Amino acid sequence: MSIDLEFDRKHIWHPYTSLTNPLPTYPVKSACGVEITLETGEVLVDGMSSWWAAVHGYNHPKLNQALVEQSQQMSHVMFGGLTHKPAVDLSKKLVDLAPNGLEKVFLADSGSVSVEVAMKMAIQYWQSEHKQDKCRFLTVKNGYHGDTFAAMSVCDPVNGMHTLFNKTINQHLFANAPTPIFPKDKNELDEQLEKADLAQDHLIEITQLLKAHHNDIAAIIIEPVVQGAGGMRFYHPQYLKALRQLANQYNVLLIADEIATGFGRTGKMFACEWADITPDIMCVGKAITGGYMTLAATLTTSKVAEQICNGQAGVFMHGPTFMGNPLACAVANASLELLIENNWKEQVANVENWLNKYLQPIAEFAQVEDVRVLGAIGVVELKEPVPMEQIQAFFVEQGVWIRPFGKLVYLMPPFISEEKHIKKLAGAIEAWLKN
Ligand SMILES: *Cc1c(COP(=O)(O)O)cnc(C)c1O
Repeated sequence: MSIDLEFDRKHIWHPYTSLTNPLPTYPVKSACGVEITLETGEVLVDGMSSWWAAVHGYNHPKLNQALVEQSQQMSHVMFGGLTHKPAVDLSKKLVDLAPNGLEKVFLADSGSVSVEVAMKMAIQYWQSEHKQDKCRFLTVKNGYHGDTFAAMSVCDPVNGMHTLFNKTINQHLFANAPTPIFPKDKNELDEQLEKADLAQDHLIEITQLLKAHHNDIAAIIIEPVVQGAGGMRFYHPQYLKALRQLANQYNVLLIADEIATGFGRTGKMFACEWADITPDIMCVGKAITGGYMTLAATLTTSKVAEQICNGQAGVFMHGPTFMGNPLACAVANASLELLIENNWKEQVANVENWLNKYLQPIAEFAQVEDVRVLGAIGVVELKEPVPMEQIQAFFVEQGVWIRPFGKLVYLMPPFISEEKHIKKLAGAIEAWLKN
């Protein structure tokens, strides 16, 4: 094997991993379609889409072609004072796809940066109205918004390790997380909304926080409908709808973090559509390039953009070196075209059916607390945290790539997955439980 794993182990940080006592990492040789091939020869069916991103699978000819063609034009030029077709085409597509009214696009280099940008936008917006005090954020527990400082400050205070950085991060307001209940029958969403007092208890708390602190609050920030890395919880769209109304009523902005949920994952193009709302600011990332490279975007309304630019700065104060990177924009354009060509809605509906078919029976196991499925997301929540090293090795032996965290063993497979792939992924989880 040509790869120096010893060097990897001794010198390279992996996500949330110790360098003195690292868990094993598996060397990947190549990946194609839904399969990841290890240097050691094993072929794994991918259940993670490389963290929500690789929705069309790996090594896709059309995405490869977009990159090659763009690299022959230019791989990058600065975005200050210059522009280019890949960025314009992509921004147009984003405005077209996004909820109505989100028409101004900031291209950022990663999800966390797009969250920083969203939070800065909200602060600059209120500064332009001479409301300097409106600079705090209201959010809910169990959220995840990224690992940079501002993003981390609105992550769940416990999962997000706030105690480690307590003196450095800003102190924001946290309401209890919305009740983790998504209506069973999606065709009766509206009817259920009427009787959805499930959401009410938690809305009382958030309303009280707004009432007490709205003069200091710039925005509410939340992941629409699915709380991802903070617990894989699905909540009622009515809650989101109510937040939109409360934001209006108390004169604060609403930021929707669609970085995980965007581009079809929940069965809607954006999860905000479940509640039929338009946030004031929306972050997208992860699947935007089909998992090829890092890119994200922060969209906002004309009203927010105009007010920022009417303020004392006259401009929005952010501009990363690799803003609007043409390679990333080109592959994102190709990926968004593929979503449409592949009929993502049907793909996701199929994956959802198979996830239900093969995961729901697992709910019978004594170790299982809950099984839930929404769109192309399937979650098996266990009663106890899993032993990471053992379960990871077990899954690799079973020929699947599934990376649990804590009590959560979850699947978010590529949209191109076939029934046999979902069956294999679910079968590996079942085998672990029987083991
Ligand atoms: C992954 C994620 C982020 C952070 O994105 P990065 O590209 O990892 O910086 C932010 N918000 C949500 C909801 C995410 O899932």
